[in-house]
Amino acid sequence: MENNQIKNTKTATVIGAGLVGSLWAIYLKNAGYQVNVFERRSDMRLNKISAGKSINLATSYRGWKALDELGIGDEIRKIAIPMYGRTLHHQNGDTAYQPYGNNNQAIYSVSRGDINSKLMSIAEENSNVKIYFNQECVAVNLDLGKAVFKDTTTGVSKEVVADVVFATDGAFSAARYNGFQKLDRFNYSQNYIPDGYREILLPANEDGSFKLSVETLHIWPRGRFMLIALPNFDGSFTCTLFMPFDGHEHCFNNLTSKEKVNTFFKELFPDFYELMPNVADSWEDHPLSSLAIIRCFPWTRGKVALMGDAAHATVPFFGQGMNCGFEDCSVMWSLMQKHAENWDAIFKEYETLRKPNGDAVQDLSLQNYIVMRDKVADPDFLLLQKIERRINFLYPDAYFPLYSMVSFTDISYHTALTKGNEQENKIKQLISENAITKDTPDAKIDEIIHQYIQKSSSLN
Ligand SMILES: Cc1cc2nc3c(=O)[nH]c(=O)nc-3n(C[C@H](O)[C@H](O)[C@H](O)COP(=O)(O)OP(=O)(O)OC[C@H]3O[C@@H](n4cnc5c(N)ncnc54)[C@H](O)[C@@H]3O)c2cc1C
Repeated sequence: MENNQIKNTKTATVIGAGLVGSLWAIYLKNAGYQVNVFERRSDMRLNKISAGKSINLATSYRGWKALDELGIGDEIRKIAIPMYGRTLHHQNGDTAYQPYGNNNQAIYSVSRGDINSKLMSIAEENSNVKIYFNQECVAVNLDLGKAVFKDTTTGVSKEVVADVVFATDGAFSAARYNGFQKLDRFNYSQNYIPDGYREILLPANEDGSFKLSVETLHIWPRGRFMLIALPNFDGSFTCTLFMPFDGHEHCFNNLTSKEKVNTFFKELFPDFYELMPNVADSWEDHPLSSLAIIRCFPWTRGKVALMGDAAHATVPFFGQGMNCGFEDCSVMWSLMQKHAENWDAIFKEYETLRKPNGDAVQDLSLQNYIVMRDKVADPDFLLLQKIERRINFLYPDAYFPLYSMVSFTDISYHTALTKGNEQENKIKQLISENAITKDTPDAKIDEIIHQYIQKSSSLN
């Protein structure tokens, strides 16, 4: 393994066997590389993580595109639950359903542990990929393609040299820290948002059935904070409470006892509390975690490229972090074909193409937090959404909602963000100029839309 430059064999080092690293190892193996993957943790497949014990991820078009490109999408679909829309739970117990798109478009709930394990196993299906566990990257030489790994069980370090190196070691990438952050003119910023999150497992009924409707993402929007729930295969739901750490009437730092947790859920999420009256007992099962946006550039240097969260870690509110990382792989792969594996050319174009999209997915994620926790229950926003859906239904070629552009296409994140915000402004103008309210009859709304489109031909 050390200095593994076997003659005539193309070699690659992948740092981190998370979601992006495991997927990228499959692409590299298909391109004929001998791939050595080094993962800091132990092998998660040996200590099976049960559904619900690990957070769930929403997989959407860009994620599926990469998986299908490798011919493994169907394998992953077997462990994915479609969610066709969001179900809102209001404080008074009312619920409302909002479809995500047209024609049964869905995003898919997948257990992080399950998809990661599956990708690692597919990567290791032949001897071209070898994953080494308990190997912590502690140093990188970007120009030489050399990385140093410390065995966390023995403390012994070794150097590994490869033709090309990919740092997929997540938001707090050691490769970025030990290599890129030492470079002159490397830009880097890390911003924590004021909110953290805590997961709660809502178990299945005794007969294994779901306690909430299943093919939907549940949201309890409460203005400055929210609870969400995604289904697991075993009938449970992984629920996540996003809330400020402090400085607000409702914040994590105020929930200091079981009584306070109980009262909080009873008052603010009464229908959830009815399903889980022992929520306070499960409160400490999962840690309180923080959320940060990390921006940096350049993403490549010498023989090393940053991919996934190592390049563009974001907050989870658009459900796009993994999807964006998988799209990094699709793009890198297409550039390998375009530039006949000339890595200097591939890396240059990769970072030029992807950096604006990394920035855009971060902006979209922050924007969608406000939508999820607050706007989904705001009457003005609901009216805007209603008009949006109607325009999209009547003129599908003239109008594509922002959520659909991000979740159901591979229109670049950057374009989606720009277009989406322009469209929203135009609809707001349409509403105010025509004095549309929630009581305006549908036929009248359609007429206004027809006239508008005839005048301007499109909202795009
Ligand atoms: C609460 C929450 C919900 C989310 N929901 C969604 C969602 O619905 N949809 C979505 O698309 N995304 C979601 N995301 C984002 C998603 O989890 C990340 O974007 C994704 O995990 C990034 O994959 P990655 O492989 O780049 O990094 P990671 O998954 O973090 O993998 C990095 C790997 O590198 C290893 N590693 C770290 N340091 C070292 C080292 N020094 N040496 C060797 N190995 C190392 C780690 O152990 C890990 O295995 C969510 C994130 C959070 C926090």
